[in-house]
Amino acid sequence: MTHSTPHKISDTPAISCRNISKSYGKVNALHDITFDVQQGEIFGVIGPDGAGKSTLFRILTTLLLPDTGDATVEGFDVVKEYKKIRKIVGYMPGKFSLYQDLTVEENLRIFATLFNTTIEENYHLVKDIYSQIEPFKTRRAGALSGGMKQKLALSCALIHKPSILFLDEPTTGIDPVSRKELWEMLRKLKSQGITIIVSTPYMDEASLCDRIALIQNGSFLRIDTPDNIVKSFGNRLISVRGENMGELLKRLREIPGVISCFAFGDSHHVAAEKSSNQLNSLTADTLAENLKKQGYTNLEVKNIEPGIEDCFMELTAK
Ligand code: ADP
Repeated sequence: MTHSTPHKISDTPAISCRNISKSYGKVNALHDITFDVQQGEIFGVIGPDGAGKSTLFRILTTLLLPDTGDATVEGFDVVKEYKKIRKIVGYMPGKFSLYQDLTVEENLRIFATLFNTTIEENYHLVKDIYSQIEPFKTRRAGALSGGMKQKLALSCALIHKPSILFLDEPTTGIDPVSRKELWEMLRKLKSQGITIIVSTPYMDEASLCDRIALIQNGSFLRIDTPDNIVKSFGNRLISVRGENMGELLKRLREIPGVISCFAFGDSHHVAAEKSSNQLNSLTADTLAENLKKQGYTNLEVKNIEPGIEDCFMELTAK
C-alpha cells in the first residue's frame, strides 16, 4: 500500500545542509557540516555520545539556530521558513518526549490535534505500529516498557503524515527485539515514500540505512553507502583472541606493521599494513608466530572482514 505525501517537492533534496556550524560557548558541537538527503532515503547519522547528532537534528527541525551555514528541509529554509518545516516534519527526540501522566491514546490524540488532524483520519499511517500498543491505550505512557514507549513516540511523530521523519537515537536503551521491530517499521515507512533521517550510536545499524554519515566531534568523517565505506577500508584486518587480553592489547600495538589495535567485544581487532612486499607483510600467520615467540599460547588469530566500526576506527585514527 502506498500513500502519497502531499508536501513533497520533486527533485528537491529532502535535506540540503551547507557548512552548518554550532557552538555552545566553548564547545564546538558541529563543525562545517555539508550533506544532502535524497527523497525516500533512510539516511543514518552514526557516531558516539556527544558527537553532535542531536544538535544537528535540532537545527534541521528548527528548534535551534545554527551559528553559520544554510540548510533546507523539503526546500524550506530552516531559519526563514521554520513554520512551514514544522508542519511537514515528524520529530522523535532522543529523550523521551511523551506526556508521562497521560494515557497512550491521549498522547496520540494531542499530537494529532496539534497538527489539526485526528487519529481516525491518519490511522492508516500508524496502524502497523500503533495497533501493537492499542491494547494498552488506557495505560499511562509513563508505565510502558521502553520498546512500547518508542512505538508510541513513533506513532505520535507520524500521526500528522509528515513527509520526512527525524528520529534521534530511536533504538537507544530498548531491547533487541524492539530494536529489530523498529527497523522493520522504518523500512515500511520508506516504502510508503517517507524520507527518514535517523541517528544511532550503534554501528551495527549502519547496514540498515541506504546511506550513512559517520560523525565524530562535530564533523562528518565519511558520507556514503555502508557497502562503499566497508570497501574503502585500506588495511588488513586480523582478529586476535587469547588469555590476558589487556596485556595482549599493549603487546600487539608494539609489533611492527600494526597500524592500530582496538578491543572489539571479546577479541582484539588489529589493523595491519597491506605491504606489497610479501616479506614485510603482516598476516594472521606471521602475527600468530610473532606472539608465540613472545610466549603467548592458546591464541586464536584469524583474518577477518572489516565492519563499519572498524572503518570508523580507521577514519578517527587518521
Ligand atoms: P549527541 O547527540 O551525538 O550525543 P549532542 O549534539 O547532544 O551530541 O552534543 C554535542 C556536544 O555539544 C557535546 O559535547 C555536548 O556536551 C554539547 N552540548 C549539547 N547541548 C548543549 C547545551 N545545551 N549546552 C552546552 N553544551 C551542549
